[in-house]
Amino acid sequence: MLKVDLHCHSNVSDGVMTPQAVAAHARQGGVDVWALTDHDEVGGIADARAAAAEQGMRFVTGVEISITWASETVHIVGLQIDEQHPVLTAGLARIRSGRDHRAREIACQLAAAGIDGAYEGALKYVGNPDLMSRTHFARYLVEIGACANIAEVFRKYLSEGRPGYVPHAWGTLAETVGWIRAAGGVAVIAHPGRYRFSQLAQGQLFDEFRQLGGAAIEVVTGSHTPDQYPEYAQLANYYGFLASRGSDFHAPGESRVDFAALPPLPANVTPVWHDWF
Ligand code: AMP
Ligand code: MN
Ligand code: MN
Ligand code: MN
Repeated sequence: MLKVDLHCHSNVSDGVMTPQAVAAHARQGGVDVWALTDHDEVGGIADARAAAAEQGMRFVTGVEISITWASETVHIVGLQIDEQHPVLTAGLARIRSGRDHRAREIACQLAAAGIDGAYEGALKYVGNPDLMSRTHFARYLVEIGACANIAEVFRKYLSEGRPGYVPHAWGTLAETVGWIRAAGGVAVIAHPGRYRFSQLAQGQLFDEFRQLGGAAIEVVTGSHTPDQYPEYAQLANYYGFLASRGSDFHAPGESRVDFAALPPLPANVTPVWHDWF
């Protein structure tokens, strides 16, 4: 059976490895079909595609786009996109454009909470100056000993209601699914189990997404707990979605599972890749 992993990050967004190094790491983890899905950015795809070919992996173009839905940040993965499609690249450029300003505001809030120099500190971890992320701040706060690990940083800082949380208006669900579809891609709701929606709101998100032409949800992801795999498999079937799978790898040791340890999709779902090869 092919091992398919359709969600991970390089240092073109908030991962720590180059696209080439992520490709090698994915291959080491047994991946046969691989997508790099950097946040709001397709700048790593050319290198990733070449590296995948070198590693003998089948490559799938991808991106993970931040949206705001019902006042919450939700992530939509686009797969099999034409990464050069002007509708997509213009949309992504627009949503990236607020990140530096937001990063400076995050740093101001952290300074008020007693953590100085966070902008410069986070910048040391940034591979792409257009894409300053909360993850870069989290790595800096761990570095200086303000927190023991990344998860603690998000608990104490950077999350809603905490110092260092700066609300940001990303794009809408409709426009984002529109960009992905314009670029010939398949839209997937990333790690649906991670959002704090009520069952009702989650159902509304799924219905709206499907009406817009969204095709799949992630079922097995490093951002779900193992008990969420069967739960979201059932929801995928109930709502008529295909199922996707991906580690959401950012850095060695930073998340619960790596490429190698992520289990396969449950047998009762239809994989998003069922008609790709
Ligand atoms: P941003 O796009 O700058 O808002 O950053 C979002 C990124 O922060 C996500 O893609 C994750 O990589 C990371 N993140 C968000 N929440 C958490 C969390 N609770 N624990 C670890 N990483 C998180
Ligand atoms: Mn991330
Ligand atoms: Mn995500
Ligand atoms: Mn991700």
